[in-house]
Amino acid sequence: MQITIYRYNPDADMRPRYETYNVDQSKISGVMLLDVLEYIKSEHDDSLAFRRSCGGGVCGSDGLNVNGKNMLACVTQISDLSDDITIRPMPGMPVIRDLIVNLEQFYKQFESVKPYLQSDSTPEREHIQMPEQRDQLDGLYECIMCACCSTACPSYWWNPDKFVGPAGLLAAARFILDSRDDKKAERLKDLDDLYRLYRCRSIMNCTTVCPKGLNPNAAIQRIREEMMDYKSKKKGSNG
Ligand code: SF4
Ligand code: SF4
Repeated sequence: MQITIYRYNPDADMRPRYETYNVDQSKISGVMLLDVLEYIKSEHDDSLAFRRSCGGGVCGSDGLNVNGKNMLACVTQISDLSDDITIRPMPGMPVIRDLIVNLEQFYKQFESVKPYLQSDSTPEREHIQMPEQRDQLDGLYECIMCACCSTACPSYWWNPDKFVGPAGLLAAARFILDSRDDKKAERLKDLDDLYRLYRCRSIMNCTTVCPKGLNPNAAIQRIREEMMDYKSKKKGSNG
């Protein structure tokens, strides 16, 4: 198989380039794309830089763009790809080196939605939640912060500093819809902005690429519904 990889070392290269490696698939000791990258690094070029950690689709470290689509290298089977593979860093982010991108802005947007429970009360034992209230959080809490979604979103590419992006909005929805959280109004008010929430154009790239099968677009729609509800109640109470 032929693997073409984006290469860029800012300390040594004037500009990025592509390098092609001919890999004998029978020599690779695994079935995942991450195994191919490890093989290239150990047998062809040990200067190749990429992120990896758990290797099992849990830590979200090895997001890459493969043949034009974002995915996690550790859960992508080689047999699901063509014999001719092109690997690039996730798009729209500054490249630190080769396949490693700078995720600082991505994390800033995540932090900006205050992704933690905010409760006005301190129960003696625990916050009680009914099973049906807990069910509301399914599909919202499983995010592994791999950034595959936000870096596939054209709205995020153009406004990474203003649009929260699908990963951050999924986290926002997770707390807006949590019956134990007391800051729903503040959370909605913070997102009621032409960019922070409404820059989403429902292009659905985020949902197409999520390796955990989550649906950030649906989460964004749920925030919009909560926003309409909140605004109509506010209007009603103002007379
Ligand atoms: S649905 Fe919204 S958040 Fe998802 S890729 Fe499209 S514009 Fe971005
Ligand atoms: S929503 Fe999916 S694609 Fe986006 S950061 Fe979370 S796990 Fe990754």
